[in-house]
Amino acid sequence: MMRFVVPLLAAILTISLAIPSAISAASAQEWSQVSSPSPGPTQVIGFYSAGCIQGAQALPTEGPGYEAIRLSRNRNWGHPVTLDFIKNFSEQVRAAGQSQLYIGDIGQPRGGPMSFGHASHQVGLDVDIWFERQPGARRAPTDRENPRLRSLVRGDDGGVDDAVFADQHMVLLRMAATAPGVDRMFVNKWIKQRICSTATGNRAWLRKLVPWYGHDEHFHVRLYCPPGNPQCQPQATYADDDGCGEALDSWFRKAPITPPPPGAPVRPYRPKLPPACQQVLNAP
Ligand SMILES: [Zn+2]
Repeated sequence: MMRFVVPLLAAILTISLAIPSAISAASAQEWSQVSSPSPGPTQVIGFYSAGCIQGAQALPTEGPGYEAIRLSRNRNWGHPVTLDFIKNFSEQVRAAGQSQLYIGDIGQPRGGPMSFGHASHQVGLDVDIWFERQPGARRAPTDRENPRLRSLVRGDDGGVDDAVFADQHMVLLRMAATAPGVDRMFVNKWIKQRICSTATGNRAWLRKLVPWYGHDEHFHVRLYCPPGNPQCQPQATYADDDGCGEALDSWFRKAPITPPPPGAPVRPYRPKLPPACQQVLNAP
């Protein structure tokens, strides 16, 4: 659980600096309670951590090379470019001889803020893909609620866990980072450091790997705003080198995030959404 709490806290701390005391009309709870997408053509509205999506589509719960997990959350909704990315990437991973992928959260049926787990994933252009695999036979969707999901980082946060990390993880990250439409990917600082010190050949893809809190059990793929979505707010760009220098080093100087004591009141995350999102939420 802590691995979910800490990244969310970190994201909220970061975002609240950018959007001081912004309050939206609707709470994350309201967005989480809507169980179906809004009608109309697919449109991304807003930013990855403050937005929504009209006409989202559901990722099929399984396909060649992947199976979606934790379906009870109803977060397998996104923009078609995201669903296409997942399908194509999973096919490619399978063709490379790797076991099928576990696909985690994309977004809620209408996007928007979530009541737990993420600050982003609001516009259907983010997806979490787990490092852990499911070798062998596919399991029924109901058996995929609590799969074993090992971290690639040691429990003492002292480095990559070499009992878990393998070459296939590097291959996986390279395939995702070089796929069309990928803006950036979030990975743990230790994973980025390992890739920085071992990747050979063309290293241009390394710049897509952006260090972030958590992201030691899964990596997060963020896609660019697709064409034809004028209300989608792109994210500012990042370093144009491989990101293995100061951009990475600074992560090793950050003070650890201290989670609030158990039972402390949780301040709900309420980003200011574009006004058009209220219509998406209210649509039948
Ligand atoms: Zn994510």
